[in-house]
Amino acid sequence: MIIIMHPEASPAQIDNVVAAVEAKGWQTHLSVDHGQTVVGIAGQGQRLDPFLLGHMPGVLDTMAITRKFKRASRTFCPEDTIFEIGNVTVGDSRLVTIAGPCSVESREQLLETAHAVKEAGASMLRGGAFKPRTSPYSFQGLREKGLELLAEAREATGLPIVTEVMSPQKVALVAIYADVLQIGARNMQNYDLLNAVGEMHKPVLLKRGMSATIEDLLMAAEYILSHGNNRVMLCERGIRTFDNRYTRNSFDINAVPLLKELSHLPVIADPSHATGIRRYVEPIAMAGIAAGADGMIVEVHPNPDQATSDGEQSLTFEQFTHLMERVGHIAQAVDRSI
Ligand code: PEP
Ligand code: MN
Repeated sequence: MIIIMHPEASPAQIDNVVAAVEAKGWQTHLSVDHGQTVVGIAGQGQRLDPFLLGHMPGVLDTMAITRKFKRASRTFCPEDTIFEIGNVTVGDSRLVTIAGPCSVESREQLLETAHAVKEAGASMLRGGAFKPRTSPYSFQGLREKGLELLAEAREATGLPIVTEVMSPQKVALVAIYADVLQIGARNMQNYDLLNAVGEMHKPVLLKRGMSATIEDLLMAAEYILSHGNNRVMLCERGIRTFDNRYTRNSFDINAVPLLKELSHLPVIADPSHATGIRRYVEPIAMAGIAAGADGMIVEVHPNPDQATSDGEQSLTFEQFTHLMERVGHIAQAVDRSI
């Protein structure tokens, strides 16, 4: 349920409403929509009487949230969620660009990439230290050594670090090094992991599962938000469709405006995993931003053909610089900047 306060409601009236709701065991979240305070109610508590609440001083209306996802919904929080990660603001008019290798492979590879993507205008550095690979025989990541290298790259460039965590047991370790915990597509419905990152209160990049519906994704976000961790970015990274002959996945462009409408959380486009092919990364990045994404995550490697993972979809430094220029034009056309 949400409670919409009168535009002239006093702070004391808002406090009274919040106190009445919390006294029944519920949690509240305040946001402002066109000058009106909206009290979002979530969690579990004793039955609330909409009639009584509707007649409290300062209350304009009450409304049930009919969607399954509550905290993730626009009804619960009508204003866009905007938050800081280090010196980067996520969700405002400036786009966030997360760039870097699929996997951290070596000190040289990571530092060289970190400097190059920073030079091209990226705002955060990505790199997998724990890698979810389809084959157990493929490179699994440098693990803690990879995390140390990421921290070194942050030290050298000032770029916040985005890196994946694959199991609840590793959340505490990865959180020591990471600025953003990435939940991979394969783990989007690993509820123990979602609960663990929710409890950690660090920003999260939540990737859509490869056959997850929009509602599945928002329900996964709901797990994280239910712990009071509101710093969640939703990532469209392509879904599996019947046609995987030419591309690895299909970028679901619909997901971008849909998620922006249904939810207040920032949306990030991943054109690298969505296509799996280097030459399609730039056009799909442009499409994602044109559709309203708040940023993108792009794989970049000093020598993509030698990459230990996802080389086919990784851009060279030159290609990434070109992409940034082109996406910059699109950003301007949709009243944003890069
Ligand atoms: C990745 O970011 O390298 C990755 C494994 O992504 P996804 O979970 O989207 O496949
Ligand atoms: Mn990858």
